[in-house]
Amino acid sequence: MALVVQKYGGTSVGTIEKIRNVARRVARTYDEGNDVVVIVSAMSGETNKLVALAEEMCEFPSEREYDVLVSTGEQVTIALLSMCLQDMGYKAKSYLGHQIPIITDSASSRARILEIGEENIREDLKNGTIVVVAGFQGVDAQGNITTLGRGGSDTSAVAVAAGLKADVCEIYTDVDGIYTTDPRIVPNASKLEKISYEEMLEMASLGAKVLQIRSVEFADKYNVVIHVRSSFNDNPGTLVMKEDADMETVLVSGVTCNKDEAKISVRGIPDKPGIAAGIFVPLSEANITVDMIIQNVSLDGFTDITFTVPKGDLKKAMKIVEGVLEDIGAKGVECDDKVAKISIIGVGMRSHSGVASKMFTTLSQEGINIQMISTSEIKVSCIIEDKYTELAVRVLHDAFELGSDD
Ligand code: ASP
Ligand code: MG
Repeated sequence: MALVVQKYGGTSVGTIEKIRNVARRVARTYDEGNDVVVIVSAMSGETNKLVALAEEMCEFPSEREYDVLVSTGEQVTIALLSMCLQDMGYKAKSYLGHQIPIITDSASSRARILEIGEENIREDLKNGTIVVVAGFQGVDAQGNITTLGRGGSDTSAVAVAAGLKADVCEIYTDVDGIYTTDPRIVPNASKLEKISYEEMLEMASLGAKVLQIRSVEFADKYNVVIHVRSSFNDNPGTLVMKEDADMETVLVSGVTCNKDEAKISVRGIPDKPGIAAGIFVPLSEANITVDMIIQNVSLDGFTDITFTVPKGDLKKAMKIVEGVLEDIGAKGVECDDKVAKISIIGVGMRSHSGVASKMFTTLSQEGINIQMISTSEIKVSCIIEDKYTELAVRVLHDAFELGSDD
């Protein structure tokens, strides 16, 4: 007998019929002799509606009441799922975050889980009850309702699994697992059997939006193996887990693309101490997150700095940079929002050479110009013109033989 934690996302509980489907899956797991704790999201679209209501009510809703409101979507699904299970003849009981309790800090709408009360859950499991927990929400030390950030039910599930030392943490979604790239771009993208936490963090932050980033950090910290799989079939999904020896033999695990960034180039800056700070301090004070940064070696005492910011912040960022041009003595600034970032990711890069050069050769063979490059231990990213995004993803996926028929 195992203790199984299952999380069902919004698309898996989006209608009454889908909730019935979830109940049947939960019941089957229970019938196989397991203790089952289920975490659910709100029905798909519901949290967005609640957010829109808050925005319609006032421009700056109080953080406390915002969380009181947006956490309600999950209250609906825990009740419906528990009713359905009871109707099928099972013992089931729903819990809101504060009833468990899931204790968090007080950072409204992005709270962090500090502790999970085990007693109520253990008691129920002991008498054969299926425990149904609202994802996304918790309670702070003062008793205020908090939420964990969009997509936070994943983190609820991993935290509950860690707290209970569950044998399995299954995260059910509407895709079969984590793929080598976006299957909408490359139809023969293959499902990964397993992926390391570190690679998953890179994939998630680069746009593979299956798991909330925080849930992966949490799983890494407490060594929870996450099984990402579909609630619409019985195919095995992808295990997100600690790096193992097999993973290192694979050069590249995935190719990702991101069209949400824009590029800013500051030209002809006198190369002396303080110029980078002169640009990036005001940007960070405006809460603009800068991703890639490149500074050239200076010729004749002048240098160029190029960096990327989220597209949504481009106008604001340009205004700030234009405002400091004179102070830093730069000759000019230009920007380009028709760019995309293409990345290859894999822990195997640590122990193999030639991965980056293969990426550059592959892009050049298609006549794709690389505008910026950045690397980390397990990732190489290039900025290219955005019209080549899909082509670049396809040729890199091929070059590293990631397709399901390779
Ligand atoms: N319902 C919340 C959201 O839409 C939490 C979640 O689904 O994970 O962000
Ligand atoms: Mg989600």
